[in-house]
Amino acid sequence: MTDLAEEFGTPAYFLDEADFRARCRAWAEAFGPDADVFYAGKAFLSRAIVRWLTEEGLNLDVCSGGELTTALSAGMPAERIAFHGNNKSEHEIRTAVEAGVGRIVLDSFPEIVRVAHIAQSLGRRQPVQIRVTVGVEAHTHEFIATAHEDQKFGIALAGGQAAEAVRRALRLDGLELIGIHSHIGSQIFDMAGFEVSARRVVQLLAEVRDEHGVELPEIDLGGGLGIAYTSEDDPREPHEIAKALNEIVTRECEAAGLRTPRISVEPGRAIVGPTAFTLYEVGTVKPLDGLRTYVSVDGGMSDNIRTALYDAEYSVNLVSRTSDAAPMLSRVVGKHCESGDIVVRDAFLPSDLAPGDLIAVPATGAYCRSMASNYNHALRPPVVAVRDGEARVIVRRETEEDLLRLDVG
Ligand SMILES: *Cc1c(COP(=O)(O)O)cnc(C)c1O
Repeated sequence: MTDLAEEFGTPAYFLDEADFRARCRAWAEAFGPDADVFYAGKAFLSRAIVRWLTEEGLNLDVCSGGELTTALSAGMPAERIAFHGNNKSEHEIRTAVEAGVGRIVLDSFPEIVRVAHIAQSLGRRQPVQIRVTVGVEAHTHEFIATAHEDQKFGIALAGGQAAEAVRRALRLDGLELIGIHSHIGSQIFDMAGFEVSARRVVQLLAEVRDEHGVELPEIDLGGGLGIAYTSEDDPREPHEIAKALNEIVTRECEAAGLRTPRISVEPGRAIVGPTAFTLYEVGTVKPLDGLRTYVSVDGGMSDNIRTALYDAEYSVNLVSRTSDAAPMLSRVVGKHCESGDIVVRDAFLPSDLAPGDLIAVPATGAYCRSMASNYNHALRPPVVAVRDGEARVIVRRETEEDLLRLDVG
């Protein structure tokens, strides 16, 4: 750790390439050749990541022109890319159709027409899925069957809206409707939410067959599979998830007299989350009598917004030396001008912790670098990939020149 800090500086993310590839393979093998695994690029995307995904046989979800450009520039075949988003621009849609992406996931009624029109004007028939909201919102350890339709994504199954979307999509020459998509939430441990979601999506497939005589060939059950951020979390393995999802879909399709569709899933966090940690240097250590000790690090909400944004929990360890000192109740905070700038809310660190010590926060591979900001003109940290005892930068640290380049005065 000391060597890494010396060579690459702090804060920095360190990502284990072998672990990343092993997780890709575990997902691909668990689901097998009759299903598709799409890595959700928004969790963390760079050109090295795209190459690893391509080599490991995974597909890729993107949800912006920038993610699409990154994917194409690193050689991901367009037909293995799915394009998502609730407000894709005209330009993004055109770029995606022109590139020949494998699917565009339609998220609203206006978008059905917009994509059809663009595809037709380019002389294409674009494969699409329709994203539906199934009336289940899943979160850690719970799923709530209320208040679910009140959000910006997808088209509700309720009230026949999704059935109407299918009707419209089937009528348009520019579109080839290949399936239905559902994504129910994130950091999910309980398969019950997926069970309800799969049942309702299959129900829609049966309705579509009854009304149009068409059996849509694919369903996508989204991502959101939980990982262990702390020792309290107990995630399922990919093969357990694959088995559960396959069983649910097969059973529901048999009951409805449908051929089992091709299933796809979209794990982001479950692939990249556990593969990386953030290394920080300790600065100010401020004991507050009767409360706790505030340990400031040289990064913060600019490199990990998750704690501030959704009360995420992390653990932390002293990694530059060992210590026998008694544990002290600590809060790891950043250097930004916000009291909510917290990296690890509650942690025990050795009471002899001192400026210059290195501490590491595990499981920061997902939604940390990808959500990083320049708040307080912080320089976004590098991502360093380690493999076989070697370390190399895959995304370099920002410099003050990078900041000033955008500021045209
Ligand atoms: C965010 C997202 C995912 C990935 O979620 P994870 O929690 O990273 O697995 C998958 N599909 C869609 C549509 C998403 O929006």
